Amino acid sequence: KLVLGIETSCDDTAAAVVDENGRVLGEAIHSQTEVHLKTGGIVPPVAQQLHRENIQRIVQETLSASRISPSELSAVATTIKPGLALSLGVGLSFSLQLVEQFKKPFIPIHHMEAHALTIRLTNKVEFPFLVLLISGGHCLLSLVRGVSDFLVLGKSLDIAPGDMLDKVARRLSLAKYPECSMMSGGKAIEHLAKQGNRLCFDIKPPMQRAKNCDFSFSGLQHVVDKIIKQKEKEEGIEQGQVLSSAADLAAAVQHITAIHLAKRTHRAILFCKQRDLLPQTNAVLVVSGGVASNMYIRGALEIVANATQCTFLCPPPRLCTDNGVMIAWNGIERLRAGLGILHDIEGIRYEPKCPLGVDISNDVKEAA
Ligand code: ATP
Ligand code: FE
Repeated sequence: KLVLGIETSCDDTAAAVVDENGRVLGEAIHSQTEVHLKTGGIVPPVAQQLHRENIQRIVQETLSASRISPSELSAVATTIKPGLALSLGVGLSFSLQLVEQFKKPFIPIHHMEAHALTIRLTNKVEFPFLVLLISGGHCLLSLVRGVSDFLVLGKSLDIAPGDMLDKVARRLSLAKYPECSMMSGGKAIEHLAKQGNRLCFDIKPPMQRAKNCDFSFSGLQHVVDKIIKQKEKEEGIEQGQVLSSAADLAAAVQHITAIHLAKRTHRAILFCKQRDLLPQTNAVLVVSGGVASNMYIRGALEIVANATQCTFLCPPPRLCTDNGVMIAWNGIERLRAGLGILHDIEGIRYEPKCPLGVDISNDVKEAA
């Protein structure tokens, strides 16, 4: 079995061909990060235009690298939800043309399901397992009970951690550091934090009183904004110039982000064990999404896993961020499970918003 996966939900045009053993035959990706860094964020019509300009070439490169022709594919799998409407539309209409032309089945993919299942391509992981997905657009804790069977235990009530880190990095003008100029905000913060002392700032973790597994990052962003204004005053500099205490602040923000993520994840593990949703020993905690490539944050979550006798797993960084491999692999998982394989594409639509499974976050209260 061979599946071509196509991803255009946000700002990466990506494709890959994967076989049923998880072998990647070929892949290609075009990242728009550089363009969006210049505009200070993603402008949807610009993202759409860039997807249109690149999708044909990216899919072609993927097929050539795989040394196969489209007729050899078992199916085409494409992200159709959730994401930016204009971006999703490009991948979907390209894929529909392809499946019509080559008479192949189509497998619609949920982007977050793909992030959650990626670990099964790289490691032997059985259901159920707990996954924390942390990126620029998402923050959720979910119990994965099957290929398309998810219980959402907690999610961000406002923005995602990557979004917060990107905003803080922009406000700190971290792109002015030559070594950070091409990095995403989160990556720049991790880089700078290595030279900083987190103890220089006393920032409280968000939502200390809410004994559930939800997250919040916008309050933290505003607290950091205030600190930056205060520091600019003290140092006598204008907004847009680099603070001498930027590295210390980056370290403090990264630390509080890690603590907040770790505390909520700890509660989710205890809750799942209490309700027998996860085994008492050797349960698996998976962390993925762009923010999971942060080594400091990974470290904090690994401590939580060790303290609760869980096995801690992360996909390699290149599979944590958006890519075509995870979409193709999700297609393989769905083919094997016989789930959601369409032979008739009539009426298929993209969905900018779509929850991942059943949300039980309101039932999750302090465990143990
Ligand atoms: P989605 O939420 O739909 O998956 P996304 O565009 O956020 O989309 P990702 O590529 O998974 O997709 O994540 C990008 C985010 O990850 C950005 O916000 C970026 O700042 C953050 N990020 C990347 N590297 C790091 C790092 N080393 N430390 C912290 N954050 C990071
Ligand atoms: Fe993503």
